[in-house]
Amino acid sequence: MIVTRFAPSPTGALHVGGARTALYAWAFARHNNGKFILRIEDTDRERSDMSHADGIVDALQWMGLNWDEGPIFQSDRKEIYREHAEKLVELGAAYRCFCSQERLEEMRKEQTGKGVPEGYDRRCRNLSIEEVELELSKKTPHVIRFKMPLDGETIFRDELRGTIAYPNTQQDDFILLKSDGFPTYHLANVIDDHLMNVTHVMRGEEWIPSTPKHVRLYESFGWEPPAFVHLPVILAPDGKKLSKRHGATSVQEYRERGFLPTALLNYLTLLGWSPGDDREIFSRDELAELFSLERVNKRSAVFDETKLRWLNGKYLMELSWDRFEPLIMPYVEKFGLKDEQLKDWGVTLDKNEWIKKTLELGKERAETVIDVIEKLRFFYEEEIEFDEESVKKHFKGDDLQGRIEVGREAIQAANPWSIEELEKEIRGRADVKGFKHPKVFHPMRVAVTGRQHAPGLFTTIFLIGRNRALKRVEKALGIIANTIDR
Ligand code: GLU
Repeated sequence: MIVTRFAPSPTGALHVGGARTALYAWAFARHNNGKFILRIEDTDRERSDMSHADGIVDALQWMGLNWDEGPIFQSDRKEIYREHAEKLVELGAAYRCFCSQERLEEMRKEQTGKGVPEGYDRRCRNLSIEEVELELSKKTPHVIRFKMPLDGETIFRDELRGTIAYPNTQQDDFILLKSDGFPTYHLANVIDDHLMNVTHVMRGEEWIPSTPKHVRLYESFGWEPPAFVHLPVILAPDGKKLSKRHGATSVQEYRERGFLPTALLNYLTLLGWSPGDDREIFSRDELAELFSLERVNKRSAVFDETKLRWLNGKYLMELSWDRFEPLIMPYVEKFGLKDEQLKDWGVTLDKNEWIKKTLELGKERAETVIDVIEKLRFFYEEEIEFDEESVKKHFKGDDLQGRIEVGREAIQAANPWSIEELEKEIRGRADVKGFKHPKVFHPMRVAVTGRQHAPGLFTTIFLIGRNRALKRVEKALGIIANTIDR
């Protein structure tokens, strides 16, 4: 059975690169009716934080990447790693190192001074049994280090890149077990991948230099190594590795900024994998059905937020009200709208119906959930601000006041208060005065919303409510009078 895992260290939010790794590992397992494991690698006590672990678990759930086992926390498995490290000492593949922090510090300084590569000088590698016993009886703190072969090379196969070889002389006698009894990443990672029967290790390419260490560990334990799949890093548009200074990098941030899990997942799917045709819209299940390692790209992909926004807009438009409502309501609630307030504004619909109607207008042409709200602020706020560009463009020309007054009169006259009546009144009155319809519509739209781009004029005025619309028109007329006076 194919077994994959996602093994994040809880040292920060879930980076989109990590999310893509998780996604491919998930898809590969699902495609093969295998198993997907979530393992939290929290053995670095200083850098790990439970709140990050929670955040990562939450972000994966939000994306719909369900796991079959986990989350398994490595910090709960300390004993297992210690036993295995001891086993390697017994086998002669590892040794105890009693060198003090100060000594290692000094050694490092000397190495940098001489310009030679840093690394442990293997002083404890050849301690006699008696020397080791003596230190142990003195309870000298110690670590367990791996005995790297002193010559030859370590060769492994990467499923995407083929054979990779590292000369052993480049490798340090790296630490397996720290003096606090916690394993290092290398030790815990290898033991767990073996004990959890992982068949395919899928991870970012930044882990390639660690792989020869892992391969040596597998060999020393007498275990068969899994297949390795190192995924290319994700780049920013400037060609550098995507990082914080390029903007949002975590799934959580995209979620907060109003992106949909389906769209983000779809976008990440295509960032390094292709279905072999030019299809652009993919669901999670379609990915699982089609995913294969052969179609994973070896080259790094560029994270293009414009494309993600576009995709998100497509998903947003298709979203049914039932799925859209829970996403948008937290933002709407921030306005704290009251029933009486709507009445004062002259809104004739019931609050919930009114909210639904306004939001559906905003969904069209919006790219994110937050865009929807931003585009609709004028519905939820008492006062509007006039957008400078819109004012410049539409508050001008012959008899501007007269054209807006036509609108004002129509708003006063519409009876009953309905979209159809509003349309009839505005058009009719424009005709009487001999104004071309767009000459009335454009400045009216700016007058009641503050901006030139807004949903259809009659529906918009209807939803703003008669009283509030009139107030806004007055305000606009005031601005116009002032500008003309000056
Ligand atoms: N804990 C490592 C990380 O944070 C896991 C790397 C691996 O998958 O082996 O990425």
